[in-house]
Amino acid sequence: MSCPYAKPSQMDANGVRDDRVVTTSNGFPINEPFATQRVGEHGPLLLQDNALLDNLAHFNRERIPERNPHAHGSGAFGYFEVTHDITDICGSAMFDTIGKRTKTLTRFSTVGGEKGSADTVRDPRGFATKFYTEEGNLDWVYNATPVFFIRDPSKFPAFIHTQKRNPQTNLKDADVFWDYLTQPANQVAVHQLCILFSDRGIPQTYRNMNGYSGHTYKWSNKNGDWHYVQVHLKTDQGVKNYTAEEAAQIAGQNPDICHQDLFENIEKGNAPTWTVYIQTMTEEESKKLPFSVFDLTKVWPQSQFPLRPVGKLCLNENPQNFFAQVEQAAFAPSNTVPYQEASADPVLQGRLFAYADAQRYRLGPNYHQIPVNCPYASKFFNPMIRDGPMNVNGNFGSEPNYFSDKTNYQFVQQSRPIQQHQEVWNGPAVPYHWVTEAGDIDFVQATDLYRKVLSKQDGAQGRLAHNIAIHAANCKSVDMQKRVVSMFSRVDEQLGKNIADEISAINSTNGKPKL
Ligand code: NDP
Repeated sequence: MSCPYAKPSQMDANGVRDDRVVTTSNGFPINEPFATQRVGEHGPLLLQDNALLDNLAHFNRERIPERNPHAHGSGAFGYFEVTHDITDICGSAMFDTIGKRTKTLTRFSTVGGEKGSADTVRDPRGFATKFYTEEGNLDWVYNATPVFFIRDPSKFPAFIHTQKRNPQTNLKDADVFWDYLTQPANQVAVHQLCILFSDRGIPQTYRNMNGYSGHTYKWSNKNGDWHYVQVHLKTDQGVKNYTAEEAAQIAGQNPDICHQDLFENIEKGNAPTWTVYIQTMTEEESKKLPFSVFDLTKVWPQSQFPLRPVGKLCLNENPQNFFAQVEQAAFAPSNTVPYQEASADPVLQGRLFAYADAQRYRLGPNYHQIPVNCPYASKFFNPMIRDGPMNVNGNFGSEPNYFSDKTNYQFVQQSRPIQQHQEVWNGPAVPYHWVTEAGDIDFVQATDLYRKVLSKQDGAQGRLAHNIAIHAANCKSVDMQKRVVSMFSRVDEQLGKNIADEISAINSTNGKPKL
């Protein structure tokens, strides 16, 4: 492995290349890697045996902290290609010419499971893409569902805890799962739950699922005209899912089936693609919505805000090293480029802090120097961002570590609108509890999904009831099961009744009362 100071490798008269000779980590050639230094043949080991110590000590440090949510994932490189002109909406250089390609890295993941957990679990899927653009690295840190369980980031840690393991038993806990989600203040999750327990809750492969920004973003063109934007990446392979029963069986037979599918398809040249669309909304239109444009639990009806095609994402290159290029990949929605800006969506605002902070914890403050995270298609120049653990990029050499008049630097290389000034916020600083709205507004889109979308898919309404019932039947508390039924009855009475009937049938086989 070369270091920046390494001289070019050489070959000796016997054809041995000097960069293939096995060494300790300080470069000392090892003659006998599988022998240990001992006192006599069977005596104790010597502390001076650096080859052994080096080997054992580094092995102890191979694992880095796994991501808290999204620990389990797979990734591949590819490119984004512009197919349609959207320069009236966005001035980012990556969109400036039809046919232009930008190199990308995409990481797919599950959310709640640990790093080694199974691929075929019922869970949202992460769909994060890093674009190595000439204006800096841009991360679209999206999910395979268009909405989420919360709309206030203060709830995120508690919510994720309830989807992970019970602190005492260390088991997944259906009572805890539903206790959180059926509390009136948390029922705002009902839309996401209806998607999660529908067929789309268990994608067959990463190639067969869509990606959605979920959040509202703000994009502007070069004149400073701006829109709210949502992004959709629709799979060109078709949406395909497993039933709960198929998924449980596959989790036992091949827990890495999605990872294997992605790697092997790319390896044999069957590169998956997604068509990228945007929905756009003006500020005026947003004021007429029956819900807030910053509400992550809502979608924008496509009849009102049609999908407009932008380009293609293609994944055609497997990583050469999973740890270096996927485990160490650091995605954060705060990594953005000119003309693409976060909206005031509070969960997105929270993620602007939390993701980069998680990468500093996992990889260290110089995580942006790891090759897969470097903004190598643009330039990184900021001699204030200096020192810190594992600084390996030369640390700006002798550049002053403050802005000196003697230094040749520029703060702004091009003039562009400062987008923050386009919306004006005012009011007192208040603790705002954005709980479930009065009336049924937080249930309307879940009901639309059930009645308008799932009704057109053969048996989909029944499978939604079945999938919820077999999960909630695991609750020890019958009262908890009743809370689940009561919440889904607000989506649709028949849905609630079907869930209750199936839980009752399972209860009767477990000696529990009917609902
Ligand atoms: P549309 O009929 O225009 O859109 C329906 C959407 O539902 C399509 O995007 C479709 O995706 C998606 N869909 C189909 N089956 C499922 C499922 N099991 N789980 C989640 N999504 C599914 O109607 P509206 O725009 O008025 O939305 C109606 C409902 O559809 C919403 O309340 C929401 O639950 C859901 N939806 C809406 C989206 C949007 O952006 N408006 C996006 C995704 C879901 P595809 O075309 O890829 O098959």
